[in-house]
Amino acid sequence: MLRVDSTDPRSDARRPAELMTSLADHLSTGLVIVDPELTVQAWNRWMAEHAKLAPEEAIGRSLESLFPDLPAATLRRRVKAALQLRSPSYVHPRRGYLFPVPLDRVTESNFVYMQQRVRILPYQDEACRAIIVVDDVTATREAEARAAAAARASERYLELLDSNVMTLAVNASDGRVMRASSALLESTGWSAAAITGQSLQALGLGLLDALTEAADGTLPERPLRRANGKALWVRVRQARGLIEDEVGGERHLVIQDISLQKKIQTLSERDTLTGAYNRMKFDQLLQTALSAHERYGQCFSIALCDIDHFKRVNDEHGHLAGDAVLRQFAALLQAQTRASDALARWGGEEFVLLLPMTSVQAATTAAEKLRRAIVNDHWPVIDQLSASFGVAAHTPGESADALLDRADHALYQAKESGRNRVCTAEEPDTCPDRPRDGEHD
Ligand code: GH3
Ligand code: MG
Ligand code: MG
Repeated sequence: MLRVDSTDPRSDARRPAELMTSLADHLSTGLVIVDPELTVQAWNRWMAEHAKLAPEEAIGRSLESLFPDLPAATLRRRVKAALQLRSPSYVHPRRGYLFPVPLDRVTESNFVYMQQRVRILPYQDEACRAIIVVDDVTATREAEARAAAAARASERYLELLDSNVMTLAVNASDGRVMRASSALLESTGWSAAAITGQSLQALGLGLLDALTEAADGTLPERPLRRANGKALWVRVRQARGLIEDEVGGERHLVIQDISLQKKIQTLSERDTLTGAYNRMKFDQLLQTALSAHERYGQCFSIALCDIDHFKRVNDEHGHLAGDAVLRQFAALLQAQTRASDALARWGGEEFVLLLPMTSVQAATTAAEKLRRAIVNDHWPVIDQLSASFGVAAHTPGESADALLDRADHALYQAKESGRNRVCTAEEPDTCPDRPRDGEHD
């Protein structure tokens, strides 16, 4: 079907030409032979089928007249270059194809026309004819477009993560920050340069290996240090799937802001005037201590503490001065007790301490130390202050109410015997429960 213009005086080798003709018709590639003016000399079957032009209609006419949208000037330049240099030349039409061949199938891409790769080869040894070779590369271009779209999508997804989720990439060996997400920088006030290289400990997150999920699924909560030194309470999770591989020696931490939860928790657990736990929280802690005793046999003690003659403070210096004394009193008790001890405001000017793993002797010693610290502290407006203590150690099988009752009674005794002293409750066996006496309060 490939027809060579036989009127051309230079096409004298008929037999080989005819052989080539039938071969060219079997290729699934478009072949067009043109002269430098783009006049068609030959047109194979593929071209006839795809461009919907029979060889008779194409041969002898210029490509420009057949395809008015063809980038003819470029093509002519390329043809001349190929002929002059005697080497192949490529054409990269901006629209993706040279000959408009509508795609007759549904594609995932937006291509309307077959995408083509176009090469121009000098035809045999002649300097006046060139072959335009056209290949269908639609499938390749579609795959490229799909890959580019996927790359754009994952880039957008990463951008979305970066600007909305706080993350830290950390060097697995030394626990130092390698990268922080924009969301984290924004929430903490750090610049990328300032946070890079910082250790997790310096940032308040502790050791990398300690940042793991507990058996019950709870995640570590830490005070992340902001650029201004203030803490942002966060929950930290190591990104799953990356821990084992430690891709490139990195570990990734996903960080959640829990400052609001912390604030609400504090409001619900603590007394607003003194910052000590409130009574509800103390009840919970006491129940936890009772469970720990039942399960593990751990002993604990409590100490009730009531400021002596506090009414006078209010009466003589006013309620605001009284409030200031209460704040200082709570801060003093907090500072003078262990981190594992819990201080709660029991009501008014009365406080209670829960001392885990503490015997009655140790609890009495601790209360005595507090009593002395109160007497020796400097009290700006009132000069002097003292408090009375009632200490009781939990005994096996004893209820919370019974224990509190014994401590309360010991406190009553401290008040009765002159105040500014520590009284220790007797064992329940030797001193059976008696009705609660609130006279001293
Ligand atoms: P005692 O040595 O017997 O304990 O004498 P007291 O004066 O400390 O005891 P009392 O129970 O008679 O008085 C307690 C006072 O504490 C009365 C109350 O107005 C005051 N108070 C309770 N809560 C607060 C508070 O939140 N702020 C202030 N400023 N005073 C309070
Ligand atoms: Mg009092
Ligand atoms: Mg009182």
